[in-house]
Amino acid sequence: MPSYVTHLESAIEPEVSLDHQILQTTHADRPLFVRYDLPAIRSAVSRDEIEKRDPTIWRYRELLPVESESHVVSLGEGLSPIIPVPELGKRMGGLTNLFIKDESQLPTGSFKARGLCMAVSRAKELGAKSLAIPTAGNAGGALAAYAARAGLDAYIFMPADTPVVNKYEAALFGAHVFLVDGLIGQCGATVREGTEYMNWFDVSTLKEPYRIEGKKTMGLELAEQFNWKLPDVVLYPTGGGTGLIGMWKAFHELLELHWLDSEHLPRMFACQSTGCAPMPTAFATGKRFAEPFPDPHTIASGLRVPAAVGDFLILDAVRQSNGEARAADESRINEWMHLAARAEGISICPEAAVCIGVLENLIAEQKIDPDSRIVIFNTGAAQKYVETLTVDLPPVPKTSDNKIDWKKIAALSDG
Ligand SMILES: *Cc1c(COP(=O)(O)O)cnc(C)c1O
Repeated sequence: MPSYVTHLESAIEPEVSLDHQILQTTHADRPLFVRYDLPAIRSAVSRDEIEKRDPTIWRYRELLPVESESHVVSLGEGLSPIIPVPELGKRMGGLTNLFIKDESQLPTGSFKARGLCMAVSRAKELGAKSLAIPTAGNAGGALAAYAARAGLDAYIFMPADTPVVNKYEAALFGAHVFLVDGLIGQCGATVREGTEYMNWFDVSTLKEPYRIEGKKTMGLELAEQFNWKLPDVVLYPTGGGTGLIGMWKAFHELLELHWLDSEHLPRMFACQSTGCAPMPTAFATGKRFAEPFPDPHTIASGLRVPAAVGDFLILDAVRQSNGEARAADESRINEWMHLAARAEGISICPEAAVCIGVLENLIAEQKIDPDSRIVIFNTGAAQKYVETLTVDLPPVPKTSDNKIDWKKIAALSDG
């Protein structure tokens, strides 16, 4: 497994170049990008060769930062299906080419597996012993699983009101889980303080360069699964934004590799909830950096990120792609989850439901061609949000003489 990594580069000052053999977190508190020798990759491997490999993110190994195969910590992550959703498209007003990339099928039920698989593998390669993370939910579970697999210690800090499944899964995998009285920002501050004392490797969003390399694989898969012609529109539920930033990075690497059959890149839509909408606010006012969103509250816990370190990278990508940052109505998230789940049998998380709301608005405003190829990312499984899935389940109906009332049951199938 030869490595093509050349260096780490500051995401805001590309002239700043750092050594990738040292466990780096940030440069001057700004994110770092992993850079590769793309011409060398181009002569070493072809698209056809990649298409023959195992269906995990490691099929793109030349474009990934782990150097030795022995350090790969894998749970079979990647190559999530892109599912056509014609019925949902019809119900949303005649969309003829709507797709869901279903990340709920990844280990621990969310796309966070991609990033943490990569961060844990690389941290292990560089000799880290214990890792720490602030999390709104799914990142904690994914770190805990991969750390268990790697035999490393994980310290996880989450807001006390994080969905219960996220708390339990992280504990199940043997991580040290702590509940914090506050939001993700407080959790991050705790990790920063502890890192000095405990010598942790801080795997906070964009505080190290490897999680986004893992998330980048969503963009590589999108290209491969659409036969190397990227879709026209991508709707991505954006919290810290690593998925969107990672895909945008992937598209540019693919362009440099000349692996795309069309240079036309998707319009990227960063989707948030009105309950926590720092990116739409910054987008609408033409700012490159976002103001912290006051009093954030949303059942889409993965989007409860009032201030993102990579705000400028999200907004740059959205603007360069002729997309937008948009918010959907928090009070309708449940409705959109039900709409998609019932129409297509896909377990839509509240975060992805927000994309459906944004798409509804874009269609109403005629900002998107209904026949264009549109992809919504379902970043996690609905089952992880049991608190928000309140349903009223009736007992078996009975007649007055205490027999099962089959007429009543049969009536459910009529009409
Ligand atoms: C973390 C998370 C998000 C936001 O992801 P970013 O790439 O960091 O913006 C979206 N959906 C779910 C389910 C998440 O867990």
